[in-house]
Amino acid sequence: MINFQQVSKTYPGGHIALEKVNFHLKAGELAFLTGHSGAGKSTLLKLISLMERPSAGTVMINGVDLNTISKSQVPFIRRDIGMIFQNHRLLSRHNIFDNVAFPLVIEGMHRKNIEKRVHAALDKVGLLNKVRCYPETLSGGEQQRVGIARAIVNSPPILLADEPTGNLDPELSWEILKLFEDFNQHGTTVLIATHDLGLIARMKYHSLTLNKGRLLHDPLMDTVS
Ligand code: ADP
Ligand code: ADP
Repeated sequence: MINFQQVSKTYPGGHIALEKVNFHLKAGELAFLTGHSGAGKSTLLKLISLMERPSAGTVMINGVDLNTISKSQVPFIRRDIGMIFQNHRLLSRHNIFDNVAFPLVIEGMHRKNIEKRVHAALDKVGLLNKVRCYPETLSGGEQQRVGIARAIVNSPPILLADEPTGNLDPELSWEILKLFEDFNQHGTTVLIATHDLGLIARMKYHSLTLNKGRLLHDPLMDTVS
């Protein structure tokens, strides 16, 4: 599903964020991506979601080599990927319905269909009762669940989360992880970047560990090296 072969990323100015990273994440897997701040976690996720391009190496998503993707094809690849951020990135002037509907509106989906999908997504994260509320009236955990509803509203096969529990207390973090686990059990491939090692230790999943842009070997992971 997600395959990195000798992937390096150097930012303008010369900073090497990733160096010769190899890994393979199979369809239907859930894995964590860990490492200190600055280790390259966000960069790795951005290469999958086409927000950044590699300086060298090959990123394959679903058998498609992202190096061969033209600019006009980018939105189509992105539809297969739901992104969740630490700070939710919700639109404060729009209510919860409109925030979750956003990716579908951009796709040009019909209103009736949008309504059905937004309600289904909000139901999954337990927030149907907040559909007309504005983000600022919701708690941090609820805002994060809206961000998750927005990421899964078009049922993407891949879900990427960048420090999704960074601003939440342990109890809420656990609830969010249970949500990811639930999506994964329904077939979604999930990759979660986090520095919360305590959280990972409570779960049985593989983790990819980055150290200054290099991937440390996880004997459990199906690494291509
Ligand atoms: P993490 O998510 O593990 O904290 P990042 O991928 O955000 O790590 O960053 C890896 C390194 O690349 C850091 O040193 C960061 O400062 C640098 N970096 C990230 N984005 C950019 C950018 N757009 N331009 C220059 N350097 C960047
Ligand atoms: P997040 O925590 O949401 O991943 P960051 O605060 O790491 O976001 O980065 C915000 C933006 O700044 C990103 O687009 C990232 O690529 C960019 N960035 C991060 N580090 C640097 C850096 N050292 N130089 C330039 N841009 C950077």
